[in-house]
Amino acid sequence: MVKITLPDGSEREYQKGISSMEIALSISEGLARNVLAAKVNGKVQDANLPIMENASIQLLTWNDTDGKSTFWHSSAHLMAEALEALYPKVKFWVGPPLENGFYYDVDTNGESISQEDFKKIEEKMLELARQKNDYVRIPMSKSEAIDYFTEKGDEYKLDLLSNLEDGSITFYRQGNFTDLCRGPHIPNTGFIKAAKIMNVAGAYFKGDQNNKMLTRIYGITFPKQKELDEYVHLLEEAKKRDHRKLGQELDLFTFSEKVGKGLPLWLPKGAMLRERLESFLRKAQVRAGYQQVVTPHIGSKQLYLTSGHWEKYGKDSFQPINTPEEGEEFLLKPMNCPHHCEIYASRPRSYRDLPLRLAEFGTVYRYEQSGELHGLTRVRGFTQDDAHIFCTDDQVEDEFKKVIDLVLYVFKSLGFEDFSAQVSLRDPENKTKYFGSDEAWDKAENAIRRAAAEKGLKTIEELGEAAFYGPKLDFMVKDALGRKWQLGTIQVDYQLPTRFNLEYIGSDNQKHRPVMIHRAPFGSMERFVAILIENTGGNFPLWLSPDQIAILPISEKYQDYANEVFLTLQEQDIRGYVDHRDEKIGRKIRDAEVNKLPLMLIVGEKEAEEGKVSVRRKGEGDLGSMTIEEFVGYAKAEINKNIPQFR
Ligand SMILES: [Zn+2]
Ligand SMILES: [Zn+2]
Repeated sequence: MVKITLPDGSEREYQKGISSMEIALSISEGLARNVLAAKVNGKVQDANLPIMENASIQLLTWNDTDGKSTFWHSSAHLMAEALEALYPKVKFWVGPPLENGFYYDVDTNGESISQEDFKKIEEKMLELARQKNDYVRIPMSKSEAIDYFTEKGDEYKLDLLSNLEDGSITFYRQGNFTDLCRGPHIPNTGFIKAAKIMNVAGAYFKGDQNNKMLTRIYGITFPKQKELDEYVHLLEEAKKRDHRKLGQELDLFTFSEKVGKGLPLWLPKGAMLRERLESFLRKAQVRAGYQQVVTPHIGSKQLYLTSGHWEKYGKDSFQPINTPEEGEEFLLKPMNCPHHCEIYASRPRSYRDLPLRLAEFGTVYRYEQSGELHGLTRVRGFTQDDAHIFCTDDQVEDEFKKVIDLVLYVFKSLGFEDFSAQVSLRDPENKTKYFGSDEAWDKAENAIRRAAAEKGLKTIEELGEAAFYGPKLDFMVKDALGRKWQLGTIQVDYQLPTRFNLEYIGSDNQKHRPVMIHRAPFGSMERFVAILIENTGGNFPLWLSPDQIAILPISEKYQDYANEVFLTLQEQDIRGYVDHRDEKIGRKIRDAEVNKLPLMLIVGEKEAEEGKVSVRRKGEGDLGSMTIEEFVGYAKAEINKNIPQFR
């Protein structure tokens, strides 16, 4: 017999050699129908593999990330089977699952596969899926495997085989298709009810541009047609909200190959949006007791040797900048913390100075491979809304909770309600990746758990996601495609104060080591704006909108009056422009709508005579005519309504 422990902690006894699928059946037939694979003692495997020892098992369905991955990887095999049936000369390299769907890299052997062929491939996949062919696991000796692919004339699988050890090699067969694969897979192809080929692209064999260019075919599959329809709909919606597209249409930012990849250029309207966000946070930070500092964009290599950044990331960073005469070495700043440590160290500190909260909108530079860059969400230069809190041991938890309040205030003010909080912990299996003692780590990890619990945050814990100097509480928000991005972050750190030898004199007149909290509610201005654009579809709240008003004179005759109104509003810090073009009023209104202007002020003869404006609000329509004074009152009230004060 074997003892099986289920995720709820319950234990059951089964005959040795029972499979996860049989265990599922013993629980309920409905459950068994949905089981795609199983996690046995932490390892994902086929649901029909026999279990030979006591194990804790988790049955994986479509609702589990690992279940989805197995489903999509198995679908890559199905797509390969369809491709082989349609194009017998095609050879296959690898077909991994993705966050959404899967791909297979293939050598088409001269066949061209393009958009027009997608339908045909999808239909073939579904035809094969309906055969409900089992994914059969076949252990192979290395020599048998080599014989098989030599006969098939497949140099790609032979290449894969050359790196595999005899005794660990398995084939998987479904229907007429056999692949070299270690698995796992879903029970049979019948689970796949909907398929869509998304895209084809070129991909070098093994990612090396000296090698042959293969064809990467992207697909996605679902257990229900309805889910595919929903996914396609989501994609269409997301395309409209893509911050790269909207950013260009709304004149917020641009990129220039000449300036360099991953280095955003903020246009006047984007800069205005950023400025609004910064001043919003700056105000809240003043109320929360922060002090603003400014530090340079580079720092000597010595600084990063001290901080440990060089040891951890030096090789994978922008390389040092050298001075021509003195041979000094500087690094582009990857983080603001070391600079802030030196501000702390610039004079003796007493316990009365703590907590010391230093804030900076600090621009940092991190090397990312060009293929990894993505709009504003992954860039090489970005500005963090950074701050470092230096405090005593006793103050850590309280300060941490105050930062949670600030992050929640920021998210709430900006309408991010659908966020999740993640406690990012050290990987206990790989402690050498991190600096500091077990004791310090335990202390910091527990402080974060307690603070988050006390603030009523529902958190998940992720091992191996901590910073090298300490654990974090990360706030994740989804973009238009449902991909998760980390925005706000709060980190407890006992290491940097030690590395920088930071001290304060306690009430006992003795020297003590402060603790450091790193935090950034937005995360980075770039990523935050990207997510904000995708969440709002570019319809920013009035207080953030780069242009709040457009004044639209009905004809040239009313330009002077329009200018007069504009100047009065500008004095009241209400921003926008006058549309002076010689266009029909209908056209001007349409364009203002396309530009997502929250308020339009139409001025003609009647308005000019009476000293009024006719107001249109986006999404609400006509608000009637108001005197300038009335409008200022209305606009200001609307602006302030959306920015509650912190605390
Ligand atoms: Zn496989
Ligand atoms: Zn920091």
